[in-house]
Amino acid sequence: MSPTGGAVAATKVGKFVVGDVLGEGSYSVVKRCIHEDTKEQYALKIVSKDKLPTSNLEKQVRKEVKIMQYLRHPCVVTVHDVLMSERNMYIVMELVKGRELFEELTARGRFAENDARRIFQQLVDTVQYCHQKGVYHRDLKPENVLVDVVTLNIKVLDFGMGWINDQEHKNMLDAKNIMHTQVGTPQYMAPELLRPSAEGYRGDQVDVWSLGMILYVLLSGSLPFPGEDIDTVTRLVHSRKKMRYPSFVKKPAKDLLDCMLEKSSEKRATLAEVRNHPWFLINYVPVVQKS
Ligand code: ADP
Ligand code: MG
Repeated sequence: MSPTGGAVAATKVGKFVVGDVLGEGSYSVVKRCIHEDTKEQYALKIVSKDKLPTSNLEKQVRKEVKIMQYLRHPCVVTVHDVLMSERNMYIVMELVKGRELFEELTARGRFAENDARRIFQQLVDTVQYCHQKGVYHRDLKPENVLVDVVTLNIKVLDFGMGWINDQEHKNMLDAKNIMHTQVGTPQYMAPELLRPSAEGYRGDQVDVWSLGMILYVLLSGSLPFPGEDIDTVTRLVHSRKKMRYPSFVKKPAKDLLDCMLEKSSEKRATLAEVRNHPWFLINYVPVVQKS
């Protein structure tokens, strides 16, 4: 981690000249920036110390960066540098062309089945790669996915809530990889995360639920459980016996969604099962991984 130096002008962070806003999340604002020497463009995630207590902030940002540096996948955004100032922490990332999947969904209303599948297939491949590396995202949602609106290629970002099964964190898990911290975004959180119990939850299972939720919104243009807060979403999830779908969502897709949006985490489909589902396999082209 390199210091930004004392005399940082408001529009410059280290060697990076800060430009327009690319997006905002719950913890940060992300701006375009240009390296003053190389003129290369990057995305600069600015996490303010006002938003998180200082000790947590540093720990969280370091973990987020560690995860991103550890993953090497064409659909995972890459990190270039990390900087710190008195008030903020900064992650310099690859500048991704495209827009939030959330924005594209809002613009289209909903995705045609083939387009939804193409995005979903890449998401599943990417998340499976993460799981194989011992990384669980835990905050998968359309705001944390960028999509190239022409090619429909995607990038997964925001590992701020992520979990990495490395030496440092391993001691905090038991033999079954059980986690306990309640993290995520209510509308995309699995039932066992919404209503945490002493038994905890598994990162792979909660990510499958979120992927199912993303597929649901891509195909239908709406959320099945549209509450704003954890309590409302929890009530909606538990009050419904069976998932309901708009009439235009076809049977094979509904069948896959039912397996992923299974309330019982034990009965829920695994990613391997998702990848073998007939709906998933239509026009499937695996993402070519970096060596
Ligand atoms: P938070 O942890 O606060 O949610 P995110 O990492 O999700 O922050 O970033 C917030 C938003 O900034 C994203 O939803 C996206 O719109 C935009 N963004 C983040 N990273 C990039 C990037 N590398 N390139 C382009 N836009 C980005
Ligand atoms: Mg985010």
